[in-house]
Amino acid sequence: MATSKGANTYNRQNWEDADFPILCQTCLGDNPYIRMMKEKHGKECKICARPFTVFRWCPGARMRFKKTEVCQTCSKIKNVCQTCLLDLEYGLPVQVRDAALKVQDQMPKSDVNKEYYTQNMEREIANSDGSLPVGALGKAMAPSDMLLKLARTTPYYKRNRPHICSFWVKGECKRGEECPYRHDKPTDPDDPLADQNIKDRFHGTNDPVADKLMKRYTNMPKLDPPEDKTITTLYIGNLGEKVGEKELRDHFYQFGEIRSVNVVTKQQCAFIQFTSRHSAEAAAEKSFNKLILAGRRLNIKWGKSQALQSAPKKDAEDDDTPLEPVPGLPGALPLPPEELNIGNNFFNLNNQAPPMPLPPPPRGLPPHGPPPVVPFGFMRGGPPPGMRMPPPPPGMMPMRPPPGIPIRPGMQVHYPSQDPTRMGTVPGKQ
Ligand SMILES: [Zn+2]
Ligand SMILES: [Zn+2]
Ligand SMILES: [Zn+2]
Repeated sequence: MATSKGANTYNRQNWEDADFPILCQTCLGDNPYIRMMKEKHGKECKICARPFTVFRWCPGARMRFKKTEVCQTCSKIKNVCQTCLLDLEYGLPVQVRDAALKVQDQMPKSDVNKEYYTQNMEREIANSDGSLPVGALGKAMAPSDMLLKLARTTPYYKRNRPHICSFWVKGECKRGEECPYRHDKPTDPDDPLADQNIKDRFHGTNDPVADKLMKRYTNMPKLDPPEDKTITTLYIGNLGEKVGEKELRDHFYQFGEIRSVNVVTKQQCAFIQFTSRHSAEAAAEKSFNKLILAGRRLNIKWGKSQALQSAPKKDAEDDDTPLEPVPGLPGALPLPPEELNIGNNFFNLNNQAPPMPLPPPPRGLPPHGPPPVVPFGFMRGGPPPGMRMPPPPPGMMPMRPPPGIPIRPGMQVHYPSQDPTRMGTVPGKQ
């Protein structure tokens, strides 16, 4: 090869000398204080075979070292990461992206043509402002449905894990915990995904990962509009913290007039009602599985019919789903034996209230109403409404009424000391 590192130096001024690698978020890792090693003209690019500046770094704790595999010219031609060769914008293999954008790969693969092509591309890169990819991709059309549905929105750090320990697979690894390689089941050699190579990934041909993704796209569920034509509400889930009413209105107003946007912060979801069914259908079709706001892929579903629709909203406001029982804690107290059951008539008074087997409320609590659940560390007055109780610390009894005792709302425990007629403030009834 004319330009390879060892053979010839006639084109040396064309060799790449970069200060920063072109990487995707996954390859870069999650550590903002990353340390990189740089080797000028360290290796030949795996695609164009010209020497380039190699970077090497560790993308995080317990991850394998990564290095750049292709030169920056090749990376810019295809707009891919220099290490994993996935598209920088969508995190997808070139084959998937090019199929979605209907880009034809006309990159020559023979030595001389390749060199000529690369030189032309370098000129094009030099003339551009660097913000857009060059070549066929630079002239591609707007992102398609497939691209938006398959695009990765979050980094996938699992990809940076160490390779599987071949000694461990044979049962011979003696390094145990210290072994820097992964002790995991080997991948199935019959799995089509086991046979990947860097050139196919780059040129977007015979890429098994791309095949898998495109199959996934064809099998993706569709969102059918409900039978009930009065439903014009869409449920939007997975909002996260950054997406609020404004962002939703900004996106959805393009489909038609919005009657209301109801954001349920606690559940990170929202209900958008359109004034017409037509707008709701358009919004559902254009957003299902591909709406990404503030870096999050939102869930789109149709609202339930009117009667059912208010139910989830109410749930969200006063969430009284019972807490999971804490394993290992003693259960609630058993009921007292029958002969001790004096009801709530603790003072043997002859009042009209039916006997109610309620335990007396703890000190400092208002005697009216059903005894509220007392959280640990809370004082008088009980918890603020809507507050969830922390589970009791181990060894302490949860202060709930024993199971089986119905507590009717409005039920009152009567205390003679608080009977106004007894205290003489109100004229007696006798
Ligand atoms: Zn290259
Ligand atoms: Zn990458
Ligand atoms: Zn090992």
